[in-house]
Amino acid sequence: MADISLMDSAEDNLRQSRSEPAPEALIDQFGRRLNYLRISLTDACNLRCVYCMPESMTFRPRQELMTDNELSTIVRAMAELGVDKIRLTGGEPTVRPNLVEIVRFIAQQQGVRIVAMTTNGILLPQLAEPLARAGLNRMNVSIDTLDPAKFKRITRWGRLDTVWAGLEAAEAADLRPIKINVVVTRGFNDEEVVDLARLTLERDWEVRFIELMPFGSEASFAQDAVVSSAETRQRIETALGPLHELVGYDGRDPARPYRLAGAQGTLGFISTVTEPFCAGCNRLRLTADGKLRLCLLRDGEFDVLTPLRQGADPESLKRMIAAAVYHKPWGHGLPDGEVPQLRLMNQIGG
Ligand code: SAM
Ligand code: SF4
Repeated sequence: MADISLMDSAEDNLRQSRSEPAPEALIDQFGRRLNYLRISLTDACNLRCVYCMPESMTFRPRQELMTDNELSTIVRAMAELGVDKIRLTGGEPTVRPNLVEIVRFIAQQQGVRIVAMTTNGILLPQLAEPLARAGLNRMNVSIDTLDPAKFKRITRWGRLDTVWAGLEAAEAADLRPIKINVVVTRGFNDEEVVDLARLTLERDWEVRFIELMPFGSEASFAQDAVVSSAETRQRIETALGPLHELVGYDGRDPARPYRLAGAQGTLGFISTVTEPFCAGCNRLRLTADGKLRLCLLRDGEFDVLTPLRQGADPESLKRMIAAAVYHKPWGHGLPDGEVPQLRLMNQIGG
């Protein structure tokens, strides 16, 4: 539990780091270079997926969340520290006010090469085009089933046709490559992975199957319903034939890509639970309430927002971030039964 102490160390870090030069890259104690920042823009959402949050979820009051100005200051500092890929997530990022302006600002930061978003797709019909024009260049849309009744059961009140309309809007706005996130949940969609994989035969999408992860009050649901990537892969191969592994992919991407014979698109498997990929981790997460989360599946966080509100200047902020990042833990503790307790997935962003 040593990493939890990071939450209280903002002032200490500020004091200690005043005299040191700000670094130009974020490197942790194991020599991993962190260049990929995932920002949760809000914990709020217009769905209530069963594996993500309870139906009765309440969201943080607005004053606890980073304002647009605070977010901009942190993003600028991150870009100066060598972050070149930023993904916007949530909760549902498209419900955040001023989203298009936020994307525009991020895309204009020197050094930022990729601005991506993970979304449930519902609001894309009105947002895909302005987002693309503002500089968004990649899109992951979460869609766990092709069956409207199952979609409603998983999301509690969502409509599948709204997400399809969102996907069409993303394609029309040329937000490629389009990636589809599928969380495989036993008893909900584990028997449907073949139909979802079949989508890649005709479309140049990447369909990614994600293992269910446990968080806080929803942990036991996730533990009971987890389906290993090995099982999902086996099910797909039995029905559709062998998967061919692609060469030359970015080794830091958790989803190693495969292709079905003759397919336009690819398949990926994100096996966080059964085959952790921590050695190549290049990711940091910023929560909507301004905490730097160093590992998705560990509770240790570093408070960036409080020192910023207390008047930390940009150089001090950079030094604090770099000092915190140095302590990024090696990997998660699920194999040892350590389940993150402090936040649910909508408060982290995936
Ligand atoms: N609302 C957006 C969406 O659903 O795409 C972005 C936020 S959501 C938290 C990001 C991703 O995390 C989605 O693909 C979602 O399916 C996935 N996710 C949510 N809860 C999860 C869990 N317990 N285990 C694994 N993936 C999860
Ligand atoms: Fe909302 Fe995404 Fe969580 Fe579903 S997975 S409830 S869409 S934040």
